Amino acid sequence: MNQQQIFLISFGYFQKDFLDKIAEDVRREFLNPVNIREGHLDLSGFYDPARRQYNGNSMLKHVDANFSSDDSKTMGLFSVDLFIPILTYIFGQAFLKGRTGIASLYRLNNERYGMTRDEKSMLERFSKVVTHELGHAFGLVHCHNPVCVMRSGTYVEDIDQKGQHLCELCRELSGIY
Ligand SMILES: [Zn+2]
Ligand SMILES: [Zn+2]
Repeated sequence: MNQQQIFLISFGYFQKDFLDKIAEDVRREFLNPVNIREGHLDLSGFYDPARRQYNGNSMLKHVDANFSSDDSKTMGLFSVDLFIPILTYIFGQAFLKGRTGIASLYRLNNERYGMTRDEKSMLERFSKVVTHELGHAFGLVHCHNPVCVMRSGTYVEDIDQKGQHLCELCRELSGIY
């Protein structure tokens, strides 16, 4: 058993019931206690004016250094546009087998793609991204199973196509079950 508390730290002014639903999905998937906390972080230092985006690598390191602890997994939840130097944008990232990950809601809402607002799909997508990044923190790499939440994805459509859950193999590899 890989028993570790999970902390979801909200840096994005998320609604309480929204966070509660994410926490519920995460708890169901990892079978570990999930705690929600409010975090305060001045993001201006992570902003790249040339890209008009926020540096995901620096933010991940910052959350890791200031909010994480060795005996738990910590996910920083944001609502700003994240990038890493080699990619146009990222939905989230995590230290593989580490203690920290980050995820952003920024590119997960329908309006960004010219479609009508859909709270349910936005929540579902964010939940998948958070689960996926936590999976990395629990030591999982990308999975080829098309419905597994650990499948890699570049576009929001990729997130929609995969399922919410870890596949049998990933569950086994995670050491949680
Ligand atoms: Zn990944
Ligand atoms: Zn899998």
